[in-house]
Amino acid sequence: MNSASRRAMLAGSVGGLLTVATAAAQTDQPAPEPRRPGAGGTDPGPRNITLERQNPDLYVPPSTDHGTLPNLRFSFADAHMRLESGGWTRQITVRELGISKNIAGVNMRLNSGAVRELHWHKAAEWAFMLYGTARITAVDPKGRNFVDDVGVGDLWYFPSGVPHSIQGLGPDGCEFLLVFDDGEFDEDNTFLLSDWFKHTPTEVLAKNFGAPQSAFGHTPDPSQLYIFPAPLPGPLASDRIAGATPVPNSFSHRMMAQDPIRTRSGTVRITDSSNFPVSTTIAAALVEVEPGGMRELHWHPNTDEWQYYIQGKARMGVFAAAGQARTFDFMAGDVGYVPFATGHYIENTGSETLRFLEMFKSSYYADVSLNQWLALTPPELVEAHLHLDEAVMHVLRKTQAPVVPA
Ligand code: MN
Ligand code: MN
Repeated sequence: MNSASRRAMLAGSVGGLLTVATAAAQTDQPAPEPRRPGAGGTDPGPRNITLERQNPDLYVPPSTDHGTLPNLRFSFADAHMRLESGGWTRQITVRELGISKNIAGVNMRLNSGAVRELHWHKAAEWAFMLYGTARITAVDPKGRNFVDDVGVGDLWYFPSGVPHSIQGLGPDGCEFLLVFDDGEFDEDNTFLLSDWFKHTPTEVLAKNFGAPQSAFGHTPDPSQLYIFPAPLPGPLASDRIAGATPVPNSFSHRMMAQDPIRTRSGTVRITDSSNFPVSTTIAAALVEVEPGGMRELHWHPNTDEWQYYIQGKARMGVFAAAGQARTFDFMAGDVGYVPFATGHYIENTGSETLRFLEMFKSSYYADVSLNQWLALTPPELVEAHLHLDEAVMHVLRKTQAPVVPA
């Protein structure tokens, strides 16, 4: 079919020239229609074809989907962007993704030299570096200090209430993902250094620091800081404080230096308090799935899962008991959510390696593999339930393979 006749056919099926022109501008493929054999119909519009193409499993759900599971996906592309003089930030909290009571996420960019102002907050902060390099600093309640430089794939964790800063390094600064162990967390509502100075009488500041009152009262307005430009710092060694005692457990971790679990179709790196001791409230897995591969059917026996998609395309099917199941599609920059104990799989539906993070509000990572469960249960019992033939019973796997084909 040439493009003129395809357009003519589309005009007939969707009945709107404007819609067709929009569709044709985006791709050569015909616009999707919400129908399967024996169900559905055409979609005369109005419609947002770009979004429908991005969510094929919402638009035309697999026939196995059923019921009314809550929304389990929110894209950072749909989040409000806060632009500041030194970079930008956007967040996905319980206000954006209503089901996420346990975890909130922030995506932040610091230009070269730019600083995320010294601050603290009630939630603990876990981070994954997505781009560039950064210098991070912190001081713990026992007066021990921490300073380190982090690059792509590195993590940090600042416990609840610990004051810290982040500064973009190198020629182009950095971008990172922050994960907080509280869905109600609000990045616009943290305890800022300049904010406290601004709201403390100068005579109190003078008394507190033992310096003349005239030395105070020049603090910039907090709206001028938050994320602000600053000169690039010197080498890491120059930022080490003489006479300071370092924190006993590092607040940073090199996740990519870990030996991954490796299968034929991908890798999994797990970081929790067993190998990153300071991270007592966030456990994480970095998953890579090759085209055609799938994070196998499994669930987590301890808590909900909050996901961040770094690269590629995926679909996730979630089974929530009582016949309920829904399927969601994801691409880079999207956040996904899996309610506690619900079964799920994540399939690479694209042509490049799928990379995503699984995060849990927990000191430890844990999952239960459907395949391993069946392999370690008396076969007669399994057959009595599922009526599987020998071909399936023979390939059940007693050891875990998180990414299949294994
Ligand atoms: Mn913070
Ligand atoms: Mn999972």
